[in-house]
Amino acid sequence: MSALVVALVVALDGPAAAGKGTLARSLAQRLNLAYLDTGSLYRATGLAVLEAGGDPADPKAAESAARTLDPSRYNPADLRREEVADAASKVAAIPAVRAALLDFQRHFAHHPPGGKAGAVLDGRDIGTVVCPDAPIKIFVTASLEERSRRRVKELRDKGETVIEARVFADMAARDARDSGRGVAPLKAADDALVLDTSTLDAEGALAAVMAYIESKQNR
Ligand code: C5P
Repeated sequence: MSALVVALVVALDGPAAAGKGTLARSLAQRLNLAYLDTGSLYRATGLAVLEAGGDPADPKAAESAARTLDPSRYNPADLRREEVADAASKVAAIPAVRAALLDFQRHFAHHPPGGKAGAVLDGRDIGTVVCPDAPIKIFVTASLEERSRRRVKELRDKGETVIEARVFADMAARDARDSGRGVAPLKAADDALVLDTSTLDAEGALAAVMAYIESKQNR
């Protein structure tokens, strides 16, 4: 009789620049789990539409890009561009785009690559829609001011010229679009640990989440 092996899924959600990417990567490393940055799928879809000269808010163009998506085609640095983030949040509000990307995310979570025992997925709707049964759910947040400060620093570190008020306004607009959309809006699952990283550095956030996971496992 073969034992049923269930992958351990850690769902990590939250708004832009709250620290989820860094936290998700270090958690995956610490727990030896696979990692999927689900935002990169929406970013790649948005970039595919932009490259084809289309409008990311056009449901037909966006759905067709999502259905034929090959995320490995894109350079990670291109996916991190601000206009690509904006296009990502526009395609992400289209239900058919979300539906087209759902199976890939669920398959990754339940059949993690590389023989790993589980996976960490970060995004906006992992704990609520993609993996509602995940045993560990974390919603990472921080004030808009702090997240905007972090993004300004990240862009300046890359050598980009930045207007702080513009970064703040773009982030506020993306938050509003992600939280206000009708399908899979950004919100904490009822059973998620809500972690405010406004005054925490990366190590502090990792320590808080590791303590939470250990407390759940000992229960
Ligand atoms: O996390 P990241 O900033 O890379 O995500 C880019 C955009 O993709 C988000 O603003 C959001 O609109 C969308 N997204 C989503 N659901 C996810 C991951 C990302 O709607 N699970």
